[in-house]
Amino acid sequence: MRVCVVGSGGREHALAHVLARTADEVVVTPGNPGIPGSTPVPATDLEADLYVIGPEGPLADGLADQLRGRGRLVLGPGADGARLEGSKAWMKALLERAGVPTARYRSIEDPAEAEAYLATLEPPYVVKTDGLAAGKGVLVTESREEAVADAAAKLSGRAFGPAGRRVVIEEGLAGPELSVLCVCDGRRAVALPPAQDYKRLGDGGTGPNTGGMGAYSPVPAAGSSLVETVLDRAVEPTLAALRAEGIDYRGVLYAGLVLTVSGPRVLEFNVRFGDPEAQVVLPRLRTDLAALLAEAAAGHLRTEPEAGPASAVTVVLASEGYPSAPRTGDVIAGADEAASLDGATVFWAGVAADGAGRLVTAGGRVASVTGTGPDLAAARTRAYAAADRLRWPGQQRRSDIAAHPLVPVPQPQEEHP
Ligand code: AMP
Repeated sequence: MRVCVVGSGGREHALAHVLARTADEVVVTPGNPGIPGSTPVPATDLEADLYVIGPEGPLADGLADQLRGRGRLVLGPGADGARLEGSKAWMKALLERAGVPTARYRSIEDPAEAEAYLATLEPPYVVKTDGLAAGKGVLVTESREEAVADAAAKLSGRAFGPAGRRVVIEEGLAGPELSVLCVCDGRRAVALPPAQDYKRLGDGGTGPNTGGMGAYSPVPAAGSSLVETVLDRAVEPTLAALRAEGIDYRGVLYAGLVLTVSGPRVLEFNVRFGDPEAQVVLPRLRTDLAALLAEAAAGHLRTEPEAGPASAVTVVLASEGYPSAPRTGDVIAGADEAASLDGATVFWAGVAADGAGRLVTAGGRVASVTGTGPDLAAARTRAYAAADRLRWPGQQRRSDIAAHPLVPVPQPQEEHP
């Protein structure tokens, strides 16, 4: 099988790396100089037996529809299904119809209404742009004043342009977050092993929100019964609601959840593999990924994904100034050394080749380094050992990825008289 992966980040590198275990050939478009098989030829001009679309942008722009229109097998929803991620207001309304547990919300286009609705909520206040904002359109704050000002800035178009002309304001949910990525064939969904990611730039969850600074899998607190609950209460009802809208959803449904005291609640659905979750979830699979994704793309999922015994931890290495103003053009040292370590893989993201053929930084998140091992502690040691080898001026990373994995919370003992 010849597989074409669309995208250029660490997620696409991980997809290509794991697909290459069983596919005859993997090409990545546009990829980057660190990903083998990268080509500047657009997907629509490439021949492949299966197309796997990584980022949300091309999905929202209808790339899957275009390719399917030419009779191609594609993993990734059409523009209709991609609205789940492209409009939070549309997503929330669909979840409400499907009866999926999620935060109470209101979709608002007027600043005075935003202020009035915020007055009815308890802190923390959550204000989201309706449209895509590269992961930066969400404010969570204890201050009602700040929330009111943020809603006004978004609605005016100043803060995020057209993406913010409508906002979703919702109740704040408390609890640890969990990502459950499911592969869907339009009717059925199967879950990949859960992962936890780290959204903030700094250790201990401090600093600004980012695209993601690291992840680990498995999550000790997320056993098979929790995954079953997420499938039963969240993912399957959502797929059924999509079908009721006439949407044949063949792709990844990524449920971003908060584990509240009253059970898991859906924060959001993404329409693609998570980045950096893919860099820990995919390497753990012992299932043939190319076969699994081809089945889903064809509308006939039969394979149950199965994880091997290894744990995986990924640490994202970012450039100076990320996320607000990443500096580019710094020469990256130590790539060969990092790649030579046992149990570690470097997935390249924001990199380019300079005139002398050297790898240089070319974006915010530059690489994610995945370590695997018999348990999370061993995987973590390997990930950081390899990350230590990669050097450039101003590099940023967290030092606490998987340092305190989420363990099961002891259930209150029942009292027996
Ligand atoms: P989203 O893009 O919707 O996933 O939001 C980005 C991040 O904001 C999430 O990963 C959460 O950490 C936080 N967040 C979003 N919605 C809520 C909410 N209702 N309550 C608390 N935190 C939230």
